Amino acid sequence: MKDRSKTVIEPEREVPVVDEVDVLVVGGGPAGLAAAVAAARHGGEVDLIERYGYVGGMATGGLVLMLDRMGNDEGEQVVRGIAQELVDRLEAMDAVIYPPKDVWGSSDPQAARKWRHFGAVGPQSGRVRYSPTVDPEYLKIVGARLLDEADVRTLFHAWACSTLVSDGIVRGVVFESKSGRLAVLAKVVVDCTGDGDVFAYAGADFEKRDLPFGLVFRLAGVDIEKANSFVNENPEEFDALVRELAKSGGTGGGVGGLNAIYYRTVREGIVWCNNSVPTSDSLSIDELTKAEKERRETALRTLEFFRENLPGFEEAFLLDTAPQLGTRGSRRLKGEHTLTKDEWLSEKQFDDVIATCSPRTEGEPLINVPYGCLLPEKLENLLVAGRCISVDTVVHNCVRLIPPCMATGQAAGTAAALAVREDAAPREIDRSQLRSLVAEDHARPSPALPDAK
Ligand SMILES: Cc1cc2nc3c(=O)[nH]c(=O)nc-3n(C[C@H](O)[C@H](O)[C@H](O)COP(=O)(O)OP(=O)(O)OC[C@H]3O[C@@H](n4cnc5c(N)ncnc54)[C@H](O)[C@@H]3O)c2cc1C
Repeated sequence: MKDRSKTVIEPEREVPVVDEVDVLVVGGGPAGLAAAVAAARHGGEVDLIERYGYVGGMATGGLVLMLDRMGNDEGEQVVRGIAQELVDRLEAMDAVIYPPKDVWGSSDPQAARKWRHFGAVGPQSGRVRYSPTVDPEYLKIVGARLLDEADVRTLFHAWACSTLVSDGIVRGVVFESKSGRLAVLAKVVVDCTGDGDVFAYAGADFEKRDLPFGLVFRLAGVDIEKANSFVNENPEEFDALVRELAKSGGTGGGVGGLNAIYYRTVREGIVWCNNSVPTSDSLSIDELTKAEKERRETALRTLEFFRENLPGFEEAFLLDTAPQLGTRGSRRLKGEHTLTKDEWLSEKQFDDVIATCSPRTEGEPLINVPYGCLLPEKLENLLVAGRCISVDTVVHNCVRLIPPCMATGQAAGTAAALAVREDAAPREIDRSQLRSLVAEDHARPSPALPDAK
């Protein structure tokens, strides 16, 4: 057994400061992309650092292709803003698919039967939802364009590894890169790393709640009409196959279990498959490595099983596994406010709501996220957005989806720019002004599309 308690002391070193800006956003996933664009549009000089070579986080590198519940089961659109802008731009490039507006909220069997295969039907309600499915390669391009157009300086291949704090105030972030260890100083830092790396390095309080990892994969060469006819006409036989698949070492689907074995994509002949492992430590490199290896085997086993047993998959092949292992939950900030299930279900009113998300199913109230969920309890000049904001486990299950992460990101970016403009700490800004700005931005139609034909 190796001694894992041994430590070394790194020598002190000077780190070049490559930029000093108003707002530094760390992590270019759904939350970070929206935060950076919003902060820049509201007048901030903004840098974004991202450890990989593209934006989108789970929605691109994680191959999580469905922007789930942009609308609720009642058929209303709930998340707009930069999330909707992305959809509009992807639409102009034929790189997104979603149910037409006239079937949102419908339980018409024909519509439900079609859109179920895209994951756009509530499992409990049976109602069609506005849940667009995107092409991840186009999303990478469109996301980068949004950043460039807003004049955000983007640094890819930049892995944040330390947060600079003095007197309880966050001053910037140090990151590792091929150019060496570098720093960016900022008046406000927005942690959009999903895992809360920046607030953890800064010493903020948090809780850690691991959820199952997932390594999504895509299969190509699928006769989708044939496969879907089989699934639609033989639901019991399909369920039995899915159970057998899980027992024989294939994927057990997503967190919700067997209902999410494969989903259609924007592209003909290609499906994406959830591929989750039981909960393990999402910050342990041993567990992350194990999950990567095991889930690729599971993907291959699933392919073999489908080819043998599922009509329509006879000629299928493994197109790719996600370059980014999917983490659903790890650290969650202990914020100025922690939104709880009871507050949500009892429809507690807050003065500083900055994002609204769809609930789990019909009849449940919308989830209104107050600004305090984005603010650490003690540290100043730091905001948090995306799946690591301060909420309890039940609320997290809804706010961790891509559209709400974009909504909290957009709000955090707006708040950061406002703080810089007012020369105030993010905690001290005029929250009613923030609320109005966020509401105006969400109500505004997408700006003219450069790609529109
Ligand atoms: C398997 C799986 C299936 C899912 N299915 C769905 C679904 O169908 N629909 C849906 O809406 N949601 C789904 N989700 C949830 C959703 O994808 C995520 O919760 C959401 O993407 C979180 O957005 P985020 O911006 O907070 O974090 P992320 O998407 O994780 O983005 C974080 C970004 O920060 C970067 N980063 C992290 N650490 C650092 C660092 N130290 N330095 C620099 N950069 C860093 C990452 O590379 C990444 O780009 C799923 C999640 C998983 C794992």
